[in-house]
Amino acid sequence: MGSKIAVVGSSNTDMIIKMERIPKPGETILGGEFTTAPGGKGANQAVAAARAGGAVRLVARVGTDMFGNQAVEGFVGDNIDVSHVLRDRGEPSGVALIFVDHQGENSIAVASGANGRLSPADVQAATGAIAEADVLIMQLETPLDTVSEAAAIAARAGVRSILNPAPAQALDDELLRRISILTPNESEAELLTGLAINTDADAAEAANALSQKGVGVVLITLGARGVFVHGDGVHDLVPGFEVEAVDTTAAGDVFNGALAVALAEGTPLGEAVHFANAAAAISVTRLGAQPSAPSRQEIDAFLR
Ligand code: ADP
Repeated sequence: MGSKIAVVGSSNTDMIIKMERIPKPGETILGGEFTTAPGGKGANQAVAAARAGGAVRLVARVGTDMFGNQAVEGFVGDNIDVSHVLRDRGEPSGVALIFVDHQGENSIAVASGANGRLSPADVQAATGAIAEADVLIMQLETPLDTVSEAAAIAARAGVRSILNPAPAQALDDELLRRISILTPNESEAELLTGLAINTDADAAEAANALSQKGVGVVLITLGARGVFVHGDGVHDLVPGFEVEAVDTTAAGDVFNGALAVALAEGTPLGEAVHFANAAAAISVTRLGAQPSAPSRQEIDAFLR
């Protein structure tokens, strides 16, 4: 049995059309290539954590439609405990419609559906799963009061919590004080602090500003450059790995899932970030969100 990870968050089905260029309003373009892939930040992070070696319990809501069935089948296939994946009779499963052009530029519309109905009461019903976990992971694709409730349960139970504040939105200081580890990317850190991040020194300043709001540990992910780490006695850049990037979708999600597992195993912060950088680097060399998340064997081999 691996270390115990609880994830509270979103599950979507990504419906992707690759085409020469993205259609303008009112325009129809033929000749696209269609694929579907399981996505949603919560689900991506759960899958990444499970493949990295965690025993994962996911708290989420999907519809009773085909997409919900497929999502749940996928979780079970990755050995994720789905006893808190609720089926919503009133709303469809979340979907993201994604256009990708020949340069890899994309345009995305998300209908949150059942994700928008994941409630504080749903999270309370999963109190056991959260309180028994070594680490809780959350993001912002489900309602904010649900995220706050999950953070409060973890804080009361002394469970370390990771909030990946994506998609970017303003957060109140009370929530930030409940979080053990905040993992914004550059643009999310800019939104949360009002500081522009162009250099490592800027990242250091933004991390300081966030820690002054009461967050224990701040990890600002900087794409290929790696992660600026502030907290647990570290205030430094942990460099990323040089790889040939094919698709950076869900790099941050894989980072968060792998980070949670390393921390749950008792790995010190700097080393845990190094491990998560490796997992994320492997993921950017492959297409897709969940399909790109590496297994523990792959991460260990990469680091050898
Ligand atoms: P997000 O995907 O949330 O925007 P980032 O782009 O900062 O977040 O990526 C998260 C992490 O993924 C980085 O800190 C790094 O470890 C890894 N990563 C992202 N892009 C690359 C890349 N091109 N090469 C190597 N690692 C990468």
